[in-house]
Amino acid sequence: GLLNKILDFKGSIRVFCRIRPLLWSNISKNDDPVVVDLDKVVVKSAGSKKGFDFDKVFCQNSTQEDVFVEVEPILRSALDGHNVCIFAYGQTGTGKTFTMDGMNDQPGIVPRALKELFHYASLHSTASVTFSMSMLEVYMGNLKDLLAPKPTRRAYEPVSRCNQLNVQVDAKGVVEIEGLTEVPISDFSKANWWYTKGRRARATSSTNVNDVSSRSHCLMRITISHHGGAPEGQARTSKLWMVDLGGSERLLKTGATGLTLDEGRAINLSLSALGDVIASLRRKRTHVPYRNRKLTQILRDSLGNESKVLMIVHISPVEEDLGETICSMSFAKRAR
Ligand code: ADP
Ligand code: MG
Repeated sequence: GLLNKILDFKGSIRVFCRIRPLLWSNISKNDDPVVVDLDKVVVKSAGSKKGFDFDKVFCQNSTQEDVFVEVEPILRSALDGHNVCIFAYGQTGTGKTFTMDGMNDQPGIVPRALKELFHYASLHSTASVTFSMSMLEVYMGNLKDLLAPKPTRRAYEPVSRCNQLNVQVDAKGVVEIEGLTEVPISDFSKANWWYTKGRRARATSSTNVNDVSSRSHCLMRITISHHGGAPEGQARTSKLWMVDLGGSERLLKTGATGLTLDEGRAINLSLSALGDVIASLRRKRTHVPYRNRKLTQILRDSLGNESKVLMIVHISPVEEDLGETICSMSFAKRAR
């Protein structure tokens, strides 16, 4: 029941797995290499079977609604004042963006979470809780402000507004991204307008040949401020991060050169730094290896202490992706 669900989220790290359905382009050969057994994913390879436990597994016909029901308790934590990070992890093409953004008729976690926040606010006095939004892209260690007003640029000026943002940590350990646009959002339709704008800004940064979105991380931050209630009427704030991570695929054995190789390396390094941080938080180590990576620096104050982390690991159901699937399973195992 409900009580169980609340108790269930007392811990600070949850790892879910979502298996993408077969797509029309997949010709199904052999039998399914990936099978779900309750909250276990069984991977069959080279005649052997190996099981991986998760807090929750979503099989191929799970709906966006099914996923969101399990995400809701962690949103409550954000509203209760905890910093929260929700990550979509996985190989390119396994459904990270589908889970986070979704499609018009099948909205994902982000639009549903926004609805939920305003629903919560409507149940409380309007002045007591307010929200603001920021969106940024991390690409090869550079930050791009996705909600920045369009630069008024002259013809030969570079379009890129990377490198303008600085990540600072204050004496209390609070992370500040200097120069990042933060917009107040007062209702769902305003929030949705900014969110659409941010997604469009991300899309235009990809060239038609190389899809940059698979080699960059896209982060949305909702800042939740509670006013009043606290002794001196100070605001109590918490951050809710919803992150569509770059593709976790290993560097291509062949053909990866130049920019692509560097891009792949940047993503791999930041994902393994993220894995290291989560693994050490899980084991309650005193030294947490945030390392010199932008992704973990940005999330530093939202990954430790009282914060809650939800990692949704996405995998492909097809045989040819088995190598990547096994890598994703071992990433999940370390986090759990
Ligand atoms: P990623 O962001 O991990 O690269 P996408 O979210 O773009 O992957 O998904 C790849 C394709 O698979 C898209 O066409 C997407 O609509 C589809 N897809 C992914 N997950 C699902 C799902 N659970 N149900 C239906 N279609 C899905
Ligand atoms: Mg994507």
